[in-house]
Amino acid sequence: MTSVKLTCTSCGQINRVAGERLEQRPKCGICGEPLDDGKVRELDAKSHDKAIRSDDLPLLVDYWAPWCGPCRMMAPEFAKAAQALAPDVRCVKLNTQDHPDVASRAKIMGIPALVLYDRGREVARLAGARPAAQIADFVRQNLAGRM
Ligand SMILES: [Zn+2]
Repeated sequence: MTSVKLTCTSCGQINRVAGERLEQRPKCGICGEPLDDGKVRELDAKSHDKAIRSDDLPLLVDYWAPWCGPCRMMAPEFAKAAQALAPDVRCVKLNTQDHPDVASRAKIMGIPALVLYDRGREVARLAGARPAAQIADFVRQNLAGRM
């Protein structure tokens, strides 16, 4: 039995979840929020860095801002992709207007931008608004052999 580390997107606690429990929508041991239910959640600077550094599951981050029309247009597509990719990959959002320092560290030049991380490093990135199927394909192609 292998367990995976997952950072709670609500409280930032690192949880250990048994691999076979991922399908059963595990919850955070501290705050009770779901850890991996296919819903897109918003990260802050702390949970962003922690999840990239610590998580054992791939993480797809949508860097966006409220003023960005294409970002808002892509949001429902990103939500669909998140459902399709769960529980193997977690999909989250980072508001670059609230967290410009995080965006600059992630070298985000334009939004929306999707960056796929796996075990502490960037695997690939995709710029511009995309439909759900393209987002899911992008992730699967770049994680070939991992899922
Ligand atoms: Zn929590």
